[in-house]
Amino acid sequence: MFKAVTRIWRKHYPIYWALDPVSAETRGKILSNIISLTPFTMWGAILSGLLIAGAMFTSPWRWPMLGWWLLLLVVCGTGLVSTWHQRAHPARPASPKAMARVTLNSLVFSVAWTLIPAWIFPELDPSCQMVITGLMAGMMCAGAFTLSGVPMAGTLYVWIMVSLCNWALLRTGNDWLFLLAALNVVYGGILTMGVLYAAKATNARLQSEREAERQSRMVSVLLRDFEEQTTDVLWEVNLSGRFTHVSDKLAKLLGCEPSQLQDTTLQGWFRTHCPHLDEFKQALRAGQPFRDVILPISLSQQDHWWSVSARPLFDDNGNVMGWRGVIADITEQHQAQSRLKDLSLIDPLTGIGSRTHLREALGHALELAQTKGFRSALLCVDIDNFKWINDAHSHTIGDEVLKGVAQRLHTVCPDTQLARLGGDEFAVLLTPVRHDDHAQAMSKRLLLAMKEPFKAGDHVVNIGVSIGIGLIPDHGDTIDEVLANTDLALLAAKEGGRGRVEVFAHSLGERSRRRAMIEQELKGALSARQFSLYWQPKVQTDEWRICGCEALLRWAHPTLGIISPAEFIPIAEAAGLIPAIGNWVLREACKVAARHFGNLTISVNASPAQLVRPHFMENINAALSESRLPASQLEIEITESLFIDASPVALAHLHALRDRGVRVALDDFGTGYSSLSYLRRFPFDTLKIDRSFVCELLNRPDARAIVRTIINLARTLGMNTVAEGVEEPAQLAVLQQAGCMVTQGFLIAKPMPLEDFKDLLSNWEDGHAPELGPIPQTDFAQLEALRSTQKAWSATLA
Ligand code: C2E
Ligand code: CA
Ligand code: CA
Repeated sequence: MFKAVTRIWRKHYPIYWALDPVSAETRGKILSNIISLTPFTMWGAILSGLLIAGAMFTSPWRWPMLGWWLLLLVVCGTGLVSTWHQRAHPARPASPKAMARVTLNSLVFSVAWTLIPAWIFPELDPSCQMVITGLMAGMMCAGAFTLSGVPMAGTLYVWIMVSLCNWALLRTGNDWLFLLAALNVVYGGILTMGVLYAAKATNARLQSEREAERQSRMVSVLLRDFEEQTTDVLWEVNLSGRFTHVSDKLAKLLGCEPSQLQDTTLQGWFRTHCPHLDEFKQALRAGQPFRDVILPISLSQQDHWWSVSARPLFDDNGNVMGWRGVIADITEQHQAQSRLKDLSLIDPLTGIGSRTHLREALGHALELAQTKGFRSALLCVDIDNFKWINDAHSHTIGDEVLKGVAQRLHTVCPDTQLARLGGDEFAVLLTPVRHDDHAQAMSKRLLLAMKEPFKAGDHVVNIGVSIGIGLIPDHGDTIDEVLANTDLALLAAKEGGRGRVEVFAHSLGERSRRRAMIEQELKGALSARQFSLYWQPKVQTDEWRICGCEALLRWAHPTLGIISPAEFIPIAEAAGLIPAIGNWVLREACKVAARHFGNLTISVNASPAQLVRPHFMENINAALSESRLPASQLEIEITESLFIDASPVALAHLHALRDRGVRVALDDFGTGYSSLSYLRRFPFDTLKIDRSFVCELLNRPDARAIVRTIINLARTLGMNTVAEGVEEPAQLAVLQQAGCMVTQGFLIAKPMPLEDFKDLLSNWEDGHAPELGPIPQTDFAQLEALRSTQKAWSATLA
């Protein structure tokens, strides 16, 4: 039974036994509570004891009562003295023994208080009995209340008093007092329940107090740690903005003494040091936590940037009673960030704006278009064949050219936004433009300016540019749309033959999709054997004899149909697919020629991208030796674009071709960059007069003059001339009269498949020229006027 009670007791009141420091601390607090109440109980006991003893002073029990009172005085006095000594000490951890001592003391006290009155109780007169009964009841309640933190002491105290009181009551033989004894037991039970419950509650309260204290200790440790270790500074203000937590760090940050801050409000300080407070004020007004409100601060004549974060503090009713937060000085970070931003706006190589800068400028232009109706124009300027410049010279030369281009853009368009979009692409933003022709005119001036050779180190580099124009707001409502559309215009300009200007049109979108599709399909065309060669004859007109033929590539796509080389060759060049395709053409042409064409000379077109490759000559040799075609029967046609950067590799390959005995023709002569100095740099075997001149021969006297000059020029330099694109007999007549003896064109035959060409060869009858009719006369006056043009050409050559 005793064991069971002990087990229950231990389970519910571990505070009596547990040796851990937490329990010791809790015990200390409980005892400290009892100590602070004990003097009242003791004085109460002494005074009431004196009252009883005094009341019985006339009765025969006066001497035992006096003895009792003196005993009470000794017991209570001891208690008072010991609590007096301990009163100043804060609660200290207490051992289980201390609890046992309290229990024993309460036992002694209850016996001392009750024994004598209970013993003499039956002998007393009813009025004295009443006084004692009342006092006992009061002392029972007061003791139970005082000892409520130590349930064992409280319970023992109550039940000792109940037992002794009932012993006294039952000895009287009075029925009414029997009833009182029964009531006494009931009260004892209630008081015991109260003591046990209060003990538990006290224990729980102490524990939660302890936890709260531990947490607040931890918070202050963390805060101190935080303040010491981070550069952030804590602040706390009440509702009127006065600082409620002022650390040295905060005072230092705000540039004043901690004492000064007591009389300052945060808002007041900010008002004198921060010109842009709106965001901060708004955040406070919202009454919600906020983070990283950036404030520019001017302090000690220096500019700082602070980031302020805070959360509101609430009172018990949920009203905002202040704010607590941190201030971080982010001046360095802010400066680094703005430096980075500045850097990101400038292209490091050329010093003009970057893509980011252009985007900002475009955003502004779009805004102006929306708000004020201003129109702007974006010019995307791209260097033609810039890759070759890098490949043929070096990247250093390439960089010099890029810087030169930026410089020229600046010279031609001084008051505009310029940017390099990456690689060899530049942009000019004209804001505002008065009329759309303004953009076109500016582009033409740019084209002209870029034609002047660039000096890069010891090199002189010629470049051309293509320009795409996008108009704001017509060609896009967003930055990306404007950029994408202008890019499409640029692409169209490049496709259209480079060195051109193209304005965006909605049809270009469709074109670019087709271009992307063609590029994709081209990748598999060679292995899928979709290519074939068509042949077009060249005729020596005075003898009407086929003296050669040109191999022209054809691509038959299974779903897209026949695609013109004029469309897919530039795409293949841009996609880097031309070396493989060109090599196939070369081998196939040589093979076919050796097998089927006897001693006819064949012309094969070669792209500049092929000629700048290191293995170009190996491919030529392989094609010749595989097919056993004599080198003298092969002619390579190249275009003037090969020379725009005067690539030494390409030039070396031209000489190697000559040394190998292969003939070299300059195709499309007169178009493009038409620098006659090319002709001096390399002695071509043949000049092919471009179709555009032949086409104009009958309508424009200047075309006739140019053709005549070219033919004379070629003769002087010992070169043959071939006229391309001859479609009418009259054109042929003019050409013949001018001295051009070789002709290629639909007038004689269109390019045709091998079988048809073989038929043409076998059915051809030399000397059977068709009737050409009379040669159309040119207006003499016009011819005179054009003499000066001819002179200018000859002067350039000389
Ligand atoms: P190109 O080298 O100037 O070839 C002559 C082009 O003019 C051919 O167009 C031919 O069909 C066309 N033509 C010939 N006579 C006449 C005529 O009387 N009137 C008209 N209107 N056109 C005539 P094609 O075959 O469409 O080739 C276009 C261009 O594609 C060629 O121009 C050439 O630059 C390129 N190309 C063709 N095959 C190859 C190739 O194998 N390799 C390389 N790199 N380029 C090629
Ligand atoms: Ca050609
Ligand atoms: Ca041509």
